Amino acid sequence: MAKERSHIILPMFPQAATAPSGTGLTAAEREQLHRFYRTLHAHPELSMQEYRTAERIEAELDAMGVERFRCTQSGVVGIVRNGAGPVVALRADTDGLPMLERTGLDYASTVHGTAADGTQVPVMHGCGHDTHIACLIAALRVLLRRREDWSGTLVAVFQPGEELGQGARAMVADGLWERAPRPDVVLGQHVSNQPAGTVTMAIGPAMAGTDSLRVTVHGKQAHGSRPHMGIDPIVLGSAMITRLQTIVSREVDAHEPAVVTVGVFRGGLKENIIPEQAEFVVNVRALTEPLRDQVLAAVRRVVRGEAEVAGAPEPEIEHYSQVPPTINDVQAAEQTYNAIEQTLGTEQVSLERPRMGSEDFGLLGKAAGVPSVLWFFGGAEPGAADPPGNHSPYFAPPLEPTLSTGARAMTAAALHWLKTLSLPLSGGSTD
Ligand SMILES: [Zn+2]
Repeated sequence: MAKERSHIILPMFPQAATAPSGTGLTAAEREQLHRFYRTLHAHPELSMQEYRTAERIEAELDAMGVERFRCTQSGVVGIVRNGAGPVVALRADTDGLPMLERTGLDYASTVHGTAADGTQVPVMHGCGHDTHIACLIAALRVLLRRREDWSGTLVAVFQPGEELGQGARAMVADGLWERAPRPDVVLGQHVSNQPAGTVTMAIGPAMAGTDSLRVTVHGKQAHGSRPHMGIDPIVLGSAMITRLQTIVSREVDAHEPAVVTVGVFRGGLKENIIPEQAEFVVNVRALTEPLRDQVLAAVRRVVRGEAEVAGAPEPEIEHYSQVPPTINDVQAAEQTYNAIEQTLGTEQVSLERPRMGSEDFGLLGKAAGVPSVLWFFGGAEPGAADPPGNHSPYFAPPLEPTLSTGARAMTAAALHWLKTLSLPLSGGSTD
């Protein structure tokens, strides 16, 4: 309620009049930001297929005269060299999701893409990565306009394939930090369904690591009327899945968050046939590497143990996807938080608890051996009771203050890390 009231009483950016930070967009820059965002939103692409998106990003970089190269097939890196000083990497992910947009916006997506299995699927920027791209381009534009005021090097990383947890790894494997100047810090942001105009950040663990395991349960086929002649993989799989629920409740320290979810369970074709095998998929989340290792070991132990109890063959466990926890370096996060707070005002910026969602952003800093910081900015109509969130077909961040907030937060964070020559800056701000 307090927040709601503040939105009514206070102007959108209460600090802008008294403490110009130089992050504000001109009217023309804001217009460009909106136009580019609408274009991106209407033309989402599936993970690791962001070719047209990459071309659109390249066109923007070219128009600004920014040096660039492709890194992995649909990733783009822009570099602004502006004298001696720190190297600051800014990251935006670029992929959409296989889902049908239902926002009813006049710039809603109507496009389709080809899924991995060859089927045509509707595609939507349902996680708001289009806001990340547009805000990073806008931040670059502001930083270029004000290049007299800082010195150092900006590396803008437009990363594909976040939704598959593949893009960051692919860019690193394609020589990201050998081809671009090695950064001193990596900064990133994500839109979410908190009120537009706000920014939140966790200090330390920020997002969970996530691991996915496919378990194939082998039984022994039999007629449904003679179960004693077989080993029922459905009963066995059920026992495994039930027992997996005790890992978090009975084995993990109650002070440490962890999640074990079985999202897929398949087996059998007919009610009176005990099948040969069944299959389920486990998703594990934890905020620290040691806890992640502990939970994964427990999953393996439970699955193998239950199979042994049933006298069944050893099950297969395929660990097919893994993303480490996103850890905001404490010192770097505190500094970045303060910089964003100075720009947006204390009313708009707050600390938050770690999220159990996941990101492959952390891999970029990890690969460079430098701290990284990720924060969230609002993409929900301020005051909305139950706004649709990321991965909802109704997720529709209002253009403002969503986009200006993302652009200004990124600009403020970058300026903090660059060698600033004449801050505090003034003028040029229309918001
Ligand atoms: Zn996302």
